[in-house]
Amino acid sequence: MSTPAISSALTEIRSQIRAAEIKWHRSENSVTLLAVTKKKSVIEIREAMSCGQVDFGENYVDEAVKKIHQLQDDGCCWHFIGSIQSNKTKLIAKHFSWVHSIDRLKIAQRLSEQRPVDLPPLNCCIQVNIDGESTKAGIAPDALLALGNAILALPGIRLRGLMVIPATQTEFHQQRAVFSRVRTLYEQHCEYWPDMDTLSMGMSGDMLAAIAEGSTMVRIGTAIFGEREA
Ligand SMILES: *Cc1c(COP(=O)(O)O)cnc(C)c1O
Repeated sequence: MSTPAISSALTEIRSQIRAAEIKWHRSENSVTLLAVTKKKSVIEIREAMSCGQVDFGENYVDEAVKKIHQLQDDGCCWHFIGSIQSNKTKLIAKHFSWVHSIDRLKIAQRLSEQRPVDLPPLNCCIQVNIDGESTKAGIAPDALLALGNAILALPGIRLRGLMVIPATQTEFHQQRAVFSRVRTLYEQHCEYWPDMDTLSMGMSGDMLAAIAEGSTMVRIGTAIFGEREA
């Protein structure tokens, strides 16, 4: 996408987020916009940065680390949102501030052990498979409590919230019904886990329904940067 298009798309998304915050009685800036930059160039990322964008999400470790090195910008906050292979945890622990896609204890343990001691604990969300889709990542809701309790004991990571990628729905009320179940799950577990403050839900196609149900971080790619190449 051309750079003026990125700038105007960001302005548009921000105003949609603000309008939804007002509509659903959310406080101003209670929803953080994460710009998802998988398969997008450093030129496109720089354009978003020049428009004041701070939080960026990436899915592929090698691609992300290369871009992080090229950008050399201390003001950015990098979020890992893709599926995690054991042999990539060291790079994630070193280069990212957040990981949204934890769904196994083994991965959490590796990230905790490999987090460099000079960095603060890695912020993490547990990914929940809310629709029970066999092909999708994420832990089953009934296994969430045990995984979160085990993660709480790990010194190198800090459990901040839940992340979800629901099955695609086009109707607002259907999208909202799924997010509502995630919100309930979140509220049930906040009681046990002290640092919980994050609901990572909502993408380009369902952002407004997610905000209606309490999302605190929306992960937006296509609506800012245009379609990705396959
Ligand atoms: C790609 C991706 C997004 C962004 O999706 P869009 O539909 O392009 O906004 C959000 N979250 C995750 C986990 C993704 O992989």
